[in-house]
Amino acid sequence: MTDKAKQAASSKGLLQSEDLYRYILETSVYPREPEPLKKIRDVTADHPWAMMGTAPDAGQLMAMLLRLVNAKKTIEIGVFTGYSLLLTALTIPEDGQITAIDVNRETYEIGLPIIKKAGVDHKINFIESEALSVLDQLLKYSENEGSFDYAFVDADKDNYCNYHERLMKLLKVGGIAVYDNTLWGGTVAVPEEQVPDHFRGSSRQAILDLNRSLADDPRVQLSHVALAFKTKLRWLQAISVAVNNFLIALLIAVDFCLLGTKVMFGWEERM
Ligand code: SAH
Ligand code: CA
Repeated sequence: MTDKAKQAASSKGLLQSEDLYRYILETSVYPREPEPLKKIRDVTADHPWAMMGTAPDAGQLMAMLLRLVNAKKTIEIGVFTGYSLLLTALTIPEDGQITAIDVNRETYEIGLPIIKKAGVDHKINFIESEALSVLDQLLKYSENEGSFDYAFVDADKDNYCNYHERLMKLLKVGGIAVYDNTLWGGTVAVPEEQVPDHFRGSSRQAILDLNRSLADDPRVQLSHVALAFKTKLRWLQAISVAVNNFLIALLIAVDFCLLGTKVMFGWEERM
């Protein structure tokens, strides 16, 4: 590895130490994490893909974003055992609705008893399907356009750009989209030939494409920030934000500029 590649591969984002990360978890995150979410973490812990579950500190940020936009109607692409789904269901109001899409119903069913016990399953419409066709289906009904407050994208990276295009139509002005894994384990900044095998391939390329297209997208304002250092596993966390300029211009004309934004969030955490 070149020095530059080494530096990129070991970049630790904003937090430089495991102790600091644990401090945040123990001081601010775990004490406020709702019991049912802890239970989802417990039942997921032994799953071979447990590392895919949303980290609790990222979850805490998602809950804040949901509250900030008063999210009521949301989409989740990539449910797994339901950590981010339950978090969303616990955060949105009683009459809120989540369209939750995953190709795998079995993993959803691992967390489902906990979701039911928490009394929030009535807010969830789980659709067992690959996500792109569901988004296209939603877009066939004009009432869905500009109707969603929030989207969390945490599934097949190859389709992230396709999801983005559809979500730009489905999201309300002022809505938020959160993209997971936008630093692809820190390997986005490592030259292709030096990327470890399991990080190579179309997913990494798709993340690179997404990051570039969000950065170039005149419709959105973007912030792509490292959130925290994923300690033991040495993975990174990061964020991105974006605003729809066209809509801002439109809405400034009616003196409504604060609502004239679409905020996009993408972050990197465990994969
Ligand atoms: N948000 C979840 C983690 C999701 S892991 C949590 O907080 O725990 C990624 C999920 O995406 C997996 O469950 C996988 O089945 C699903 N997935 C992969 N490709 C998909 C596709 N094309 N459409 C919908 N879901 C997909
Ligand atoms: Ca993920």
